[in-house]
Amino acid sequence: MTPPATPIRANSPAARDVAYALHPYTDLRAHAENGPLIIARGEGVRVYDDQGRDYIESIAGLWCASLGFSNDRLVAAATKQMKELPFYHAFTGRSHGPLIELSEMLVERAPLANGGAAMSKVFFANSGSEANDTALKMIWYFNNATGRPLKKKVISRVKGYHGVTIAAASLTGLPANHKLFDLPIAGIFHTTTPHFYHEGQEGETEEAFATRCADDLEALILREGPDTVAAMFAEPVMGAGGVIVPPRTYWAKMQAVLRKYDVMLVADEVICGFGRTGSYWGCQTFDITPDILTCAKALSSAFLPISAVVVSDRVFQGLADGSKTIGTFGHGFTYSGHPVAAAVAVETLKIYDEMDIVGHAQRVGPYMQAALKARFGAHPLVGEVRGIGMVAAVELSPDPAGRKNFDPAAKIGPRLVKYGEKHGIILRSTPGDSIAISPPLVMVENEVDEMVERFGRAVDDLAVELRRESLA
Ligand code: PMP
Repeated sequence: MTPPATPIRANSPAARDVAYALHPYTDLRAHAENGPLIIARGEGVRVYDDQGRDYIESIAGLWCASLGFSNDRLVAAATKQMKELPFYHAFTGRSHGPLIELSEMLVERAPLANGGAAMSKVFFANSGSEANDTALKMIWYFNNATGRPLKKKVISRVKGYHGVTIAAASLTGLPANHKLFDLPIAGIFHTTTPHFYHEGQEGETEEAFATRCADDLEALILREGPDTVAAMFAEPVMGAGGVIVPPRTYWAKMQAVLRKYDVMLVADEVICGFGRTGSYWGCQTFDITPDILTCAKALSSAFLPISAVVVSDRVFQGLADGSKTIGTFGHGFTYSGHPVAAAVAVETLKIYDEMDIVGHAQRVGPYMQAALKARFGAHPLVGEVRGIGMVAAVELSPDPAGRKNFDPAAKIGPRLVKYGEKHGIILRSTPGDSIAISPPLVMVENEVDEMVERFGRAVDDLAVELRRESLA
């Protein structure tokens, strides 16, 4: 049996949580019985629960706490900014120091845009979802401003993850985010997932599979009519859909199709940005030159909510001309570029530079990938171990040779997560019982060893339980 939940004591914080809190992405009935895991504090790559037990955070919270769960410099940056100017906005041309500095730093660090020139300007929001909704509205506005009012449809991918607001959830390509909410909205289409392990056909090479993905994209654009397709949203490496690393030639082929039909590319760097894939941007790992880039999470190492939309000069000029021809770009959030969040992000980017976050990921990433392969590559409960840089997935399978998945109703991944808690590791299960590993980027080799050790014990325990139930 999965480790039993501790009984909830009356009036305890757990009981009050159950009484008053409505949790995101949570089975609310089960939660009422099992109660929360209450995290009380954090330090480095670990968090500690309210009983003082430590857990290695194998997913950096939600793929975001890149500098781990403690950092005095970020605390100092926030405190200083709160004292100086706790809030100001950016509407109607207002500005402040942290917004200016962070905009400049992001443009300096951004990958090259479509066409090979540097990225041009930065717009701020508070979450990945808001950044993607903003990018979509910019594109719709751009096409109105440039006299192409029919060019509005958008393509993303099955298993892509772009957030949960109405447009972002529509772009997301996971059934659970759609059918329960009457989504996607009209005009959003999902193309093939570039996951060779599952989607590749008998006898097909990875190269040929990449060509087929690009052919599928082209067929979709032609079916809908190139004059009506505005953009594609995509993560360089898919994260929440199961850490799907595309074939080597995939992005070159996809971009060739997008350019042929003047379809903009929005690179969703919400997970990949800031070193995760072993380059500063996932775009650089895969030679992607986007029209728009969205980022969040590691932008502030998750210490405060902030996201950014970085646009090419072509996009900016369209928006700027639009102010004159069709009316001001009427979009923005109260907290767009919030000074405290922006000051923390500025400090975060300085720390990344000083510690050479990319160099660190290039050193520890391959070590982590090798350690996961060594521990799980031949495990009887594991189908595929995949990843790049410091992001990976271990896919659980009842029949590794047959590349089969468990019945989702058996909730095998969530059961493993419970075993992880028992062994002192926070794990995250993604669709297809793929356990995503995306630790704080500051993780060092001996912490990788400890993470893989604890993870391994959890998988071994689950294997014993499933054997008992004759499920594997
Ligand atoms: N894009 C990607 C690639 C993400 O992984 C996420 C969050 N996991 C989002 C967008 C949405 O971000 P948020 O939860 O901050 O809205």
